[in-house]
Amino acid sequence: MTIFKDFDDLLGRLEDVTRQGDGFMAKCPNHDDRTASLSVKRFEDGTVLVNCFAGCSKDEILSDLGGTLADLFEVPAGADGYFSNSLEPQPVNKEHIDALTSYVDEANSKLHTPKALEY
Ligand SMILES: [Zn+2]
Repeated sequence: MTIFKDFDDLLGRLEDVTRQGDGFMAKCPNHDDRTASLSVKRFEDGTVLVNCFAGCSKDEILSDLGGTLADLFEVPAGADGYFSNSLEPQPVNKEHIDALTSYVDEANSKLHTPKALEY
């Protein structure tokens, strides 16, 4: 079991959380962190990885968040799935869909036009 309601809850206990690649960066709660040096990632199975680049131990970081290492397992996804709702997720918008549609159309016509001519 985990003390975190979900991944959003975990991120909500941190400061200056920003998206970074497939994870997040935040200020480490365990040291006087001026630049966000704590990396936080959630994997599909709910395992959460925390890593302070200043070298704080995971035990210390977790106790600052109100938990223990055991709380880094089976953390439910946030309300918006893998990514937190409150952190400007990047939903698929109309431009993405249009771009993908025209790409698929183009690929499709390249694939099928020559064949169609054979008939
Ligand atoms: Zn730290």
